[in-house]
Amino acid sequence: MSTQYLIRLGEIALKGLNRSMFENMLRQNIKAKLKGYKNTITKQKGRLFLEITQECPPEVIDFALSTTFGIVGYSRSFSAPKDLKKIQETVKEAISEGPFAEGVGSFKVISRRADKSFPLSSYQLDVELASTIHEVHPNLTVDVKNPDLILYCEIRDKAYLYTSPKKGLGGLPVSSAGRGVLLLSGGLDSPVAAFLAAKRGVKIDCLYFHAYPYTSDEALEKVKTLASLISPYTQGTRLFVVPFTEAQLHIKRTAPINETTLMFRAAMMSLANKHSEATNNQCIITGEALSQVASQTLEGLSFSDSFSDQLVLRPLIGMDKQEIMDLAKKIGTYETSILPYEDCCVLFSPKHPLTRPDKAEVTEHYKAMAIEPYIDEALTKLEVFHFNERGELSN
Ligand code: ATP
Ligand code: MG
Repeated sequence: MSTQYLIRLGEIALKGLNRSMFENMLRQNIKAKLKGYKNTITKQKGRLFLEITQECPPEVIDFALSTTFGIVGYSRSFSAPKDLKKIQETVKEAISEGPFAEGVGSFKVISRRADKSFPLSSYQLDVELASTIHEVHPNLTVDVKNPDLILYCEIRDKAYLYTSPKKGLGGLPVSSAGRGVLLLSGGLDSPVAAFLAAKRGVKIDCLYFHAYPYTSDEALEKVKTLASLISPYTQGTRLFVVPFTEAQLHIKRTAPINETTLMFRAAMMSLANKHSEATNNQCIITGEALSQVASQTLEGLSFSDSFSDQLVLRPLIGMDKQEIMDLAKKIGTYETSILPYEDCCVLFSPKHPLTRPDKAEVTEHYKAMAIEPYIDEALTKLEVFHFNERGELSN
């Protein structure tokens, strides 16, 4: 048995000379999600064709194709030799399942010829295939403006037939842009930031600062759940847990009270920068949005930026909280993010945090704390959890 899917590529199809690099990465990413099911993926301009040659539950295929960046749409497809009679036979097969099978409502046929040597024009093909559909379902009416159902026919090396394409996530294949370290907290924002960075092709490692016992085991479990939920989008991820209690207590002891949040964020950035370099990552990603909280002012962000030699990406920078929540719901992280937990930032945060720091002054205060030994110590004690492309913990 063999099942075929036609996969539509969006932005990748517009790429020039390096298009095949993107296509190959996408192929690898899809294959990683279908591990255990024999399949081949072939390329044709603007399309990939996935052929699964063993029994595979449709939900496994749906999961693979609906969570992989680089895919704009996909649908179960059927192929026939480029001969009208054979194409018409295959149309009957294609409409025997899915929404056409019920035979009610209106429809149209959309034919496209990538191979212009095919003897019939697209319009003639539309008419011929519509009459085949009418033979099977006489009650269906043709409506070219607003049909309930569409049969697509593409003439390429063969004729490909498909109905009711499903939407993919768009974006570019994970890893095509490079690699980055995401600062993952238990909140709403950072998982959405992961999704958006991965959407543009960044492969992601997660870093979570855990201040046990000020932040509980439940808080860590919640972050692990979030890492597992984002890992299909990020093609798997590693979650590094940083024991940060000593560093935070040191900040609380030595920094001016209204600057503790700023210092904490600077220390996180410094550690993330060292970790990112040591793990061959190229950027740091956070879930910050401009002016969302006291530390996310231009001055606050600029101060924490100065502790990273690497590029800092903030994919949510221009988003409202409501937009972030809507996206969190769409990607499935919302319900976990809103579970109660003690955030170390909240526990250690001052009542009146400094929002517009003088960079030179707070940089002096940071130096005076002599926090780097605590950061280096924490880096030697990282714990790591591996999540695979299907969201399963694999270590
Ligand atoms: P979120 O809800 O995603 O945590 P937030 O609105 O609570 O965001 P902050 O707590 O100021 O905002 O954190 C801003 C960003 O800093 C987070 O999105 C995340 O990238 C990072 N961050 C905060 N706390 C932690 C932590 N304990 N471990 C790792 N990263 C963190
Ligand atoms: Mg937070």
